[in-house]
Amino acid sequence: MSQSPLLPVDEVIDRLLSGAMLLAEAEPVAVVGCPGRTLAGDVVSAINVPAAANSSMDGYALSTGDTAIEVGVPLPVSDRIAAGHVGQPLQHGTLARIFTGAPIPVGADAVVIQEDTETDADGSVRLLEKPAPGDNVRPVGQDIAAGATLFKTGHRLRPQDAALIASVGVAEVPVYRPLRIAVMSTGDELVEPPMPLAAGQIYNSNHYALIGMIRRLDMEVIDLGLVPDDRMATEAALARGAAQADCIISSGGVSVGEEDHVKAALEKLGRLDLWRIAIKPGKPLAFGDVAGTPFFGLPGNPVSTFVTFNMIAKPWLLKSQGALEVLPQPLYAGADFEAPAGTRREYFRVRLMSNEAGEMKVAAFPNQGSGVMTSVCWANALAEVDIGQAVRRGDRLKVFPLDFGGS
Ligand code: AMP
Ligand code: MG
Repeated sequence: MSQSPLLPVDEVIDRLLSGAMLLAEAEPVAVVGCPGRTLAGDVVSAINVPAAANSSMDGYALSTGDTAIEVGVPLPVSDRIAAGHVGQPLQHGTLARIFTGAPIPVGADAVVIQEDTETDADGSVRLLEKPAPGDNVRPVGQDIAAGATLFKTGHRLRPQDAALIASVGVAEVPVYRPLRIAVMSTGDELVEPPMPLAAGQIYNSNHYALIGMIRRLDMEVIDLGLVPDDRMATEAALARGAAQADCIISSGGVSVGEEDHVKAALEKLGRLDLWRIAIKPGKPLAFGDVAGTPFFGLPGNPVSTFVTFNMIAKPWLLKSQGALEVLPQPLYAGADFEAPAGTRREYFRVRLMSNEAGEMKVAAFPNQGSGVMTSVCWANALAEVDIGQAVRRGDRLKVFPLDFGGS
């Protein structure tokens, strides 16, 4: 059988992303529940933050232009201003006791910190230092100016973003509803824990990684369970998925063996592109739709499932969820291993380490086999090595850390 050339990984990702459409509608969400969600509208501040100039320290507010205010001179304290309270306009020749977060009174332009003062028995205060204009004052709008756009449509919100949104008085934001992803595992050999294994059987492990990774993208999982290597069962599972989900992800059954039924089922129920990709681990990957519901068929080897989900399916899922920044961001680190040049782009399971000199290195797990899931669990990153590139110790490699950005 003649084989078409393997498709470059970047070309597959480009094709997928250029075809990705927004699959979710917008809905409002309370700001407390917004981390992990993707914005469906810009968030604009109606106010300045802070709304009024306030003190960044406990001390005394004063006017630096007041000639009566000199170092060493006992000065009367004419007011006491705590956070949440507005003081009187500052009187000439006096100080106002002020606390962190309290508004700067009219007429004052600086705060001397209390550690730079001494208090006399009669309550008057002498300065040990004279502050410069603006010292220890947080000016109006220092953090956010009224009218500023805090976040744009397509931004995936984080907990710190929720704090910034709350700081401008907004209680609810528009986000896209979480995508519903149906997950199925194909293979006659698969058994769910804790059932005992009969001869020839293995435990279904892909399911657990896939579900966990999808949940970390704040998407909903619809569990289609185990699907035997049987044409009818495959069609039935795909139809169930298409009826309930925005996207179906399966593992296994996309090679071109006689027991790979996904292709035939898809050709009947929808459309399928079976791609042979120049990726290791990985290679076969199917993309298509079941009666209009997008479908990803990931390869069955557990490491291949993990790598193709992260590098290929995840950016597509994020874009379909409405996110704008969807590609994983690489770091660069020196190789602490060697490997011969290959004919596919390889994602090595590596451990990223840095030393006190600020150098980053990656060591590779000794067994890079596509069935060795221990390599993924040992690793904290994937190192990308391109076609024809031999790895020598010290070579600079592109590295994608795991465990953030939902992987
Ligand atoms: P396939 O892509 O169906 O040809 O499967 C490739 C390899 O991955 C075979 O060794 C399968 O037994 C294994 N495999 C497929 N699906 C799973 C799964 N859900 N969990 C663990 N191993 C799997
Ligand atoms: Mg199979």
